[in-house]
Amino acid sequence: MHVRAILLPLLLPSAVVAVLVATLDSPGGALAAALVTLAGSLMALGVSRGAVQRQLDTLTRHTRGRAEGALTAPASNPDQLEEVASLEGAIDSLHTRLSTQNARLLQESRTLTAVLDGMAEGIWVTDAEGTVVSHNDALRDILQPGAGSLIGERPLALLRNDVLSDAVMRACGEGASTRLELELEGLFPRTLSIRVTPLGRDLPGSAAVFHDITELRRLEKVRKDFVANVSHELRTPITAIRGYAETLQGGALNDAVMAPKMVEIIHRQSERLSELVEDLLELSRLESREVRLALTSVSLADAVARAADTVRPKAEGKDQRISLHVPTELRALGDSRAVEQVLLNLLDNAVKYTPPGGRVDVYGACEDGRCVVRVRDTGLGIEPKHLSRIFERFYRVDKGRSRDMGGTGLGLSIVKHLLQAMDGEVKVESQPNVGSTFTIFLPLPVPAKAATG
Ligand code: ADP
Repeated sequence: MHVRAILLPLLLPSAVVAVLVATLDSPGGALAAALVTLAGSLMALGVSRGAVQRQLDTLTRHTRGRAEGALTAPASNPDQLEEVASLEGAIDSLHTRLSTQNARLLQESRTLTAVLDGMAEGIWVTDAEGTVVSHNDALRDILQPGAGSLIGERPLALLRNDVLSDAVMRACGEGASTRLELELEGLFPRTLSIRVTPLGRDLPGSAAVFHDITELRRLEKVRKDFVANVSHELRTPITAIRGYAETLQGGALNDAVMAPKMVEIIHRQSERLSELVEDLLELSRLESREVRLALTSVSLADAVARAADTVRPKAEGKDQRISLHVPTELRALGDSRAVEQVLLNLLDNAVKYTPPGGRVDVYGACEDGRCVVRVRDTGLGIEPKHLSRIFERFYRVDKGRSRDMGGTGLGLSIVKHLLQAMDGEVKVESQPNVGSTFTIFLPLPVPAKAATG
């Protein structure tokens, strides 16, 4: 009877403490031992119920406070029973351990979020019903740039694609992984490669990784088009050479009138073939940055004069006048061979696409801290819709005319690449049937260092 009267009120607050501790996490062995010891010892000591009750109340209050985030430790009490103090110590060490674990988990979660947000690939995680429960920044940029969170959305609502939606449901239901490619239409069409996987045996739901492969597919198309273009360009002269050679072999060699003409065509076509191969090699060297440019101070008047001398016979044959207006002191920072090649390509085009009797003028100046050279002709001009494309490889306004004139369709592309390699650029203005002006910009030479003393 006496024992029960003491035990009951003693165990009740201890049970309260145990429950409180359980709210923090699973109590350790030390805590369980402390509780048992406390109950037994207090019984043995026969301490007054009121004193124990008060100390346990205080401990309960402090423990609850700490569970709710209070930072301060309770003030020490000299009258505190040893067993209560031991219980408090166990709670203390449990609290410290949980706080450390908590801090580590928080740090890990922050690191993971930073890694996911730093990735170029978009990632989402869904619950077992296929609803997005988390995603990284890249996914929003890929699917809905500028939009808010995508959490709570369904795949079908986000991408309007049954195949993706089915893949997510299969990953959630059957644990199946799927790889698929999606074309997104709209203002900026994109191609996405998506891998959908189940989260794992113990975790319901799925994850999907989105790769934006638009640029990859574009480059693949450029490469395929390039190979097709090169093959086509090579085939034309080869077909002509073979055709005329076979005709000569078949007896035309003895035709005193036709034979020289055919040999002349074979010669012209073989020259065209070698020009094409030269241009292709030059372009490939430029694109793979194999060309080493030696940047020095280049006299633009000299470079323009040399390029003009090369095309003058052709211009004279067409009764065209080439006039140069480049100040002798105008110098640019560039590679002399590359600058001359740029000017030669532009002057050659000007002569090529200007009808007989026309004019070609070259102006040089220093404008806004840059060297500027303008090649102006009174030729056929270019329609506005072609202007942005004429610097592309093999792009021609009039394929037939360009080929007839011996063009490879690579000249302006080489001009653009050479100028880029020298920190320069090229622009074009043109009016059909009036003429075109190609303007190149190059940096000024670095001024010689002033003598120090
Ligand atoms: P191509 O070898 O055909 O001349 P380019 O790359 O040098 O190749 O030029 C691309 C196209 O730009 C040409 O086919 C032509 O249609 C157009 N073009 C270039 N320069 C001129 C110009 N001065 N006047 C008119 N059209 C030009």
